[in-house]
Amino acid sequence: MTEAAPKKEQRRKFQAIRGTRDLLPPDTALWNHVEETAHAVFGTFGFGEIRPPIFEPTELFARSIGQDTDVVSKEMYSFEDFESSALLDYRNAILIWKAEPIGSGPPGILGTGASAQYKPFADRLANFFVLAREAFEKGNVPRTPENESFLKFFEGEMQSFHAKIQSQTIAVLENTVQSLKERSRALKFGDSLTLRPEATASVCRAYIEHNMQQLPQPQKLYYIGPMFRRERPQKGRYRQFYQIGAEVLENVKPDPTRDAAKELAKDAITDAELIQMLMTFFDRLKLPGVQLEINSIGHAADNCRRGYVALLKSELEKVKDKLGADSQRRIETNPLRVLDSKLEHEQPIIATLPKIADHLCDDCKTHYAAVKRELELRGVFYKENWRLVRGLDYYMRTTFEITAQGLGSQNAVCGGGRYDGLVELLGGPPTKGIGFAIGEDRLILSLQEAKDQSLVTSHQPPFVYIAWMGANAYAAAVHAAKDLRAAGTRVELPPVEQKFGKALERASKLGAQYALILGDNEVAEGTWTLKTLADGTQQKFTEPHLLDFLKKL
Ligand code: ATP
Ligand code: MG
Repeated sequence: MTEAAPKKEQRRKFQAIRGTRDLLPPDTALWNHVEETAHAVFGTFGFGEIRPPIFEPTELFARSIGQDTDVVSKEMYSFEDFESSALLDYRNAILIWKAEPIGSGPPGILGTGASAQYKPFADRLANFFVLAREAFEKGNVPRTPENESFLKFFEGEMQSFHAKIQSQTIAVLENTVQSLKERSRALKFGDSLTLRPEATASVCRAYIEHNMQQLPQPQKLYYIGPMFRRERPQKGRYRQFYQIGAEVLENVKPDPTRDAAKELAKDAITDAELIQMLMTFFDRLKLPGVQLEINSIGHAADNCRRGYVALLKSELEKVKDKLGADSQRRIETNPLRVLDSKLEHEQPIIATLPKIADHLCDDCKTHYAAVKRELELRGVFYKENWRLVRGLDYYMRTTFEITAQGLGSQNAVCGGGRYDGLVELLGGPPTKGIGFAIGEDRLILSLQEAKDQSLVTSHQPPFVYIAWMGANAYAAAVHAAKDLRAAGTRVELPPVEQKFGKALERASKLGAQYALILGDNEVAEGTWTLKTLADGTQQKFTEPHLLDFLKKL
């Protein structure tokens, strides 16, 4: 320990932020196995990987996911991104300002006294304002209508404060100071950015930005990476979690001769292929107890979902008193979400509500029937669930969810659906889309709960511990380690000489399968001894034969 090391009580304990966690070995091997399987399976379906940034403009998520969703209204990590530190200093000068009493006279109408006392504050306001206006004009703060009107109002309030310090009581001035401080916070120094809560919006943004509609259609993309939502942490629910997702995006060219029936059939095949890819992935991983549920939530038209939602809403109004607070609120904000309720006492009520399948338009009905047919053709088992709705606004027609074993109430490992029109909503060309997002944390939890761990971690390379003794043996050990590693073997080369007994003990503690015994005698003879730690048997090899032997494992 060095002298500079702080005393125990001075050391601060750092901990991972609530809802985030470290993924550690050996678990990370399973994470890698899952991700490698995703690369392999998605590759066979012609998908290419996209790696979008982890933060995007807040507006991108607000517009795509929807303002009224839980994700946007309360779960996003957003921050203001700005470079103007001078502005920040000037604003802080306003925020920390306090009146210093001048003279000892009683408070009241003080005329010049108050003016002297509050003039420094007025100066700070003016400094901030001048700098802010300049930054606005140069575009160093966002040139938004909100910032423009801030400047207008702030200027007016500043001038009226000047007038007030000539004539008002201290009490009035103190109030005005407080409100001006609050006011000064309204200037946005930079754009609002958000740590992505999901990646579909980013993929659509990238599709538009890189003119992917000019590439062969559809574009099939997948991603793997962390997402961020400020949720209440619990098993299977974190604030930083990982998703593996895929999206199929297809530009729709204006074509008057388009055959609508053929289009619906084609879309249904796209949906079924994507779901098949997903099930192939879960199957390859041997995820236990996988269940696919599907539904169609129609499209936003009066003769389809909109009509149904209006009907649902009026039916919900009739039973409003029997519902919980969340559901009551959702009758106004998002009636479909009431169907999602897990509350015990609401279940019999929900069971009597009208079902969307009876209110789909003809096209949505045709499409849904075709999706089911196509899934059957591919041997994909599904269960229909008329109450399956998604928490994000952009979905239409096909929606699906997959649950797995061993996860308690957080048992959804994947959600997805069709979202024609989302790309257009984000300023792109008319585009159809469908995608899914797998919760990788939950997928891993479910695999870990599964009894047979060997299924998922069977592809470990052989692990050899080199027990060397003597200077010649050491040089041979260094060479052997290099050759063995080049052949894919995991090798532990101890940095100090150890007695053979001690070396073997350490080898088993580390979980090695073999110990390669190298003393000066072995080196001189050119025959090396490989000990199998599980049963203590030994075999002698020349170096090339040893390599051959390990390579074949
Ligand atoms: P849930 O109903 O479980 O909150 P969701 O509808 O919010 O899920 P999506 O936005 O559809 O979920 O995300 C797809 C998948 O991502 C989910 O099925 C789940 O496996 C996973 N997921 C979502 N939020 C979290 C989280 N906070 N922690 C871990 N995994 C999550
Ligand atoms: Mg959620």
